[in-house]
Amino acid sequence: MKKYAVIVVDMVNDFVTGVIAHPRIQRIIEPIRELCEKARAAGVPVFYANDSHLPEIDKEFKVWGPHAVTGTWGAEVIDSLKPQPGDIIIPKKTYSGFFQTPLELNLRELGVDTVIITGWQADCCCRHTSADAFFRGFDIIVPRETTDTLTQEDCDRGLEYIKNIYGGTICSMKDLPFWTE
Ligand code: ZN
Repeated sequence: MKKYAVIVVDMVNDFVTGVIAHPRIQRIIEPIRELCEKARAAGVPVFYANDSHLPEIDKEFKVWGPHAVTGTWGAEVIDSLKPQPGDIIIPKKTYSGFFQTPLELNLRELGVDTVIITGWQADCCCRHTSADAFFRGFDIIVPRETTDTLTQEDCDRGLEYIKNIYGGTICSMKDLPFWTE
């Protein structure tokens, strides 16, 4: 039997209402909330892979400007997706939730073989997290309601890439085996 984990990427204040907020992120908040609720009810672990940057050090600021600075409000998960007891928070320095974080170790210890990748942005942090999941032998599912990016075209392209290059399954969250109405 498959063992799943949900990974919620970068649903932190700076991306939602802070310095690099984009309006399209709003549409994925409620689906992610609902998915996490179903996952917890089914005993599926929920991980948050959150940008947590050090100013003056992290290279990403050259590309995006300062955002999600460690220890600030901007780097905290938004209130409406607030982590619940038992959820696991993984601070990350780069686009990938795996790169130099304990995410892989935690997933292995839980016996997870399939990661359900959600969050912001489909063609950047979700894509890079998918790459690292693929390199490590995890199966990948991306529920299309739970991710987005700056434009619909870029979102479609990002999801196509995850499907074609990493063998990801792109589906509706309602197709997940632990979904209950
Ligand atoms: Zn960042």
